[in-house]
Amino acid sequence: MNATAAQQHEVLVLGAGYAGLSAAIQLAARTRKRGNLRVTLANPYDTFTERLRLHMTATGQETAEMNIPELLDGTGAGFVRGWVTAVDAEAKTVRIDDDRVLHYDTLVYGLGSIADTVAVPGVDDHAYTLNSPEDAALLADRLTRLDGGTVVVGGSGLTGVEAAAEIAERHPELQVVLLGRREPGASMHPKAKAYLDSALARLGVQVRSRVEVVKVLPDSVELADGSSVPAAAVLWTSGTRVSPLADAAGLTVDDRGRVVTDSALRSVSHPGVYAVGDAAAIRQGFGVMHGTCQGGMPTGVHAALSILRVLAGKEPKPFRFGYYHTPVSLGRNDAVVQFTRPDDSPRRIVLTGKRAAKYKETVTAAPWPTFARMKKMPASGGFWPRGGSYTRIRSAK
Ligand SMILES: Cc1cc2nc3c(=O)[nH]c(=O)nc-3n(C[C@H](O)[C@H](O)[C@H](O)COP(=O)(O)OP(=O)(O)OC[C@H]3O[C@@H](n4cnc5c(N)ncnc54)[C@H](O)[C@@H]3O)c2cc1C
Repeated sequence: MNATAAQQHEVLVLGAGYAGLSAAIQLAARTRKRGNLRVTLANPYDTFTERLRLHMTATGQETAEMNIPELLDGTGAGFVRGWVTAVDAEAKTVRIDDDRVLHYDTLVYGLGSIADTVAVPGVDDHAYTLNSPEDAALLADRLTRLDGGTVVVGGSGLTGVEAAAEIAERHPELQVVLLGRREPGASMHPKAKAYLDSALARLGVQVRSRVEVVKVLPDSVELADGSSVPAAAVLWTSGTRVSPLADAAGLTVDDRGRVVTDSALRSVSHPGVYAVGDAAAIRQGFGVMHGTCQGGMPTGVHAALSILRVLAGKEPKPFRFGYYHTPVSLGRNDAVVQFTRPDDSPRRIVLTGKRAAKYKETVTAAPWPTFARMKKMPASGGFWPRGGSYTRIRSAK
């Protein structure tokens, strides 16, 4: 599969999230002096969605607009605005919602994930989500029109915790109830969990764990024990769902629909397709990675490096990754940062309060300047040169 000067090799990256943008910029920046490789990035919006800030959008806070075509300017990468509606892995084409058909030689699949609005009846019809900036803005609008009442946050994972804290802080007139099967912060060190619990209590968030929501109605949620909780608005953050496009295209997917990859991040069934970020099922020594921005960006970088090695006729290197932290915002001025072992198990080191809030903000703000720096690197240079090793080294400390 060597790309000679005479051949134009088309790399199409689907999804300009943390992982897809990392892949597109890394690849385009490294190859901008070559005439034989073209990178195209497809995404429904021309602004980057900072998913890590969607709970801020949902409480009416302004966040920066980050223009993707402007970021790509100078790298040689093209941008196609539109929703991908189908992938034909045999014909190597992708269909966009305006009926354009894009051809690729190599595909990078980075369509991310969203909260699962299908598993529990009524969620799709009656609950708000943080699945997109538009969805988050709808909730913001609803919250400003309430002058009291209860907001239920369904899902006690960290997205639910961050959202519940943010809503409670911004809307003290509302009662926030956080519902979920597990206790918030259950996977954290007891020190971190205790801090998180007390912050939620300080903000007046009512936590009800070990409960299962079985139905969402227009004005309440029904629980498995037959009781119900009145709700003027429901925010759903529970579970994750990925695009059905990979499965429909015949790629091997896991039981959650994520593309199963080999160690170089290629689809095990279609090696011309690389999968990155939340949309990929990537196995490491500790198990299959779960979706995070901290893991997603290195997967994008590594996919780009694997593509370059394969095109040069070399074997791609295995992707290695280790988690190193879990920063959780608790409103704007408080947070808890759980430092972790590479397998994501909690260490004893925990940061809390204002310093943790500053740390969380630094981490949240980091991707965009990181993309900008990647873009400027010399064509032959390196940024996270062995994808994942950056985090591995840090987490080993
Ligand atoms: C409120 C909230 C807080 C979070 N906080 C943290 C945190 O603190 N730390 C952390 O590590 N992770 C956090 N996460 C998780 C993190 O946001 C995801 O793991 C990360 O966004 C995954 O990156 P990705 O590139 O795989 O997908 P995404 O960032 O979701 O990007 C996917 C892209 O694909 C596009 N796309 C989807 N379908 C199509 C289609 N059919 N056609 C074209 N484009 C499409 C989307 O529009 C999007 O631009 C949080 C998530 C939420 C919702």
